[in-house]
Amino acid sequence: MADHDVDLFVIGAGSGGVRAARIASSYGARVMIAEEFRVGGTCVIRGCVPKKLLVYASRFSAEFEDAAGFGWTVPQPTFHWPALIANKDSEIARLEAAYISTLERFNVKLVRTRAVLEDAHTVRLTTGARVRAETILIATGATPYHGAQIAGLEHVISSNEAFHLKQLPARILIQGGGYIAVEFAGIFAGLGTEVTLVYRGENILRGFDDDLREHLRGEMVKRGIKIITKQTVAAIEKVDHGYDVGLSDNEQVMTDLVMFATGRKPNVHGLGLEAAGVKLGKTGGIAVDEFSKTTVENIYAVGDVTNRVNLTPVAIREGHAFADTVYGGKPTPVDHANVPTAVFSEPELGVIGLTETQAREQLAKVDVYKTSFRPMKATLSGRDTRGFMKLLVDGSTDRVVGCHIAGADAGELIQMVGVAVKMGATKADFDATMAVHPTAAEELVTMREKAASYDRAAAE
Ligand code: NDP
Repeated sequence: MADHDVDLFVIGAGSGGVRAARIASSYGARVMIAEEFRVGGTCVIRGCVPKKLLVYASRFSAEFEDAAGFGWTVPQPTFHWPALIANKDSEIARLEAAYISTLERFNVKLVRTRAVLEDAHTVRLTTGARVRAETILIATGATPYHGAQIAGLEHVISSNEAFHLKQLPARILIQGGGYIAVEFAGIFAGLGTEVTLVYRGENILRGFDDDLREHLRGEMVKRGIKIITKQTVAAIEKVDHGYDVGLSDNEQVMTDLVMFATGRKPNVHGLGLEAAGVKLGKTGGIAVDEFSKTTVENIYAVGDVTNRVNLTPVAIREGHAFADTVYGGKPTPVDHANVPTAVFSEPELGVIGLTETQAREQLAKVDVYKTSFRPMKATLSGRDTRGFMKLLVDGSTDRVVGCHIAGADAGELIQMVGVAVKMGATKADFDATMAVHPTAAEELVTMREKAASYDRAAAE
């Protein structure tokens, strides 16, 4: 131990790295953490947190419109983008400071520098200083990836820049059909921007339940978002007033801003992984076992850099489990099954478990329950919108294996459904639960009629 400067060196002070550093330190480890950008990582600085603040901002426009049906007269509201961005920035600065003071409180030494592995126990800082560590944790996250080189790619922004625009664009073209694309489409549309979303596949949110995808797409269109599928952006030309965007089928779209949300790549380059002997997995992330250990005995990796389930709470759980395993004497594998997730699109989505397609592939019998309904609030507001909920049930065991929700507060709802699903609740348990009336969530415990039933044995 004497030839080590620290017990643990963490590279990257994002959600996973900070949690691991703090818990390891609380177990008595001497911990150093390096961060080359801002403390807090993607989620706090340019991800979940600022995104959710922008989502809140974007939803007021519909609230103002809806108010009329409830008797309110709202003077023509106006929106000031720079005020939103400034307020958001000060909240992010507050959170960053809170993260830093947490590290200080836990005696974690923070070094504001890039850190590169020289070998399995040595980290080199930008200053040239070398730190010897008994254990190293890589938590460097991921970075936006723009896909193939096309003409005019230099004009494209990612979500990173979207948080710092000087002004709100009148028109935006967003390429992508994943979380970030649909969330930012909703944000910009809600704030009054004319949004065109270009997606290469048949329908947005590949990997989500097909009914949910269809529902969200319809609702986005109702909110004025133009969705172009089976197309990619082929070229972008700067013109006098914005950009002339050429699509793969030769269609042209004029816009003021082009944003790509075409996925993120694990931050593995230039880290010295080869020098230390750390190997990558098939998906381009650092290969790890269930305890987040890499191919090198004393080097671990957590969060998006491992490209497992790229969500903040998962990175936090992985970081915590790492510290429990290595310093707490409690070997803790992370269970990546049944992770609830929300998409803060408009309307919001909440999801856990299997999609209908997955359920039919994996289970011998599947019962499908679903409902589409007019939310009560829409009756007086007159808004043309519907809610959607779907339960997938294992027909052999009656266990609820999937839940898919679209509508207000779907993210809040799925957190609680997540507890039930994780506990192995059956459809009978859902049915036995008294409804809370009048809510949208009561649909979850009052769906009685099967929309479909599949029995593989009977079909064969
Ligand atoms: P996603 O992987 O979710 O989506 C990427 C999208 O870009 C897909 O629609 C994909 O199409 C498309 N795409 C990929 N490559 C190309 C290409 N070369 N040309 C055209 N289209 C392309 O990534 P995001 O960037 O949206 O988000 C990254 C991750 O961050 C998410 O997967 C999620 O894990 C996390 N995240 C979570 C949030 C939340 O919890 N609410 C919010 C934001 C991000 P295809 O489907 O055909 O592959």
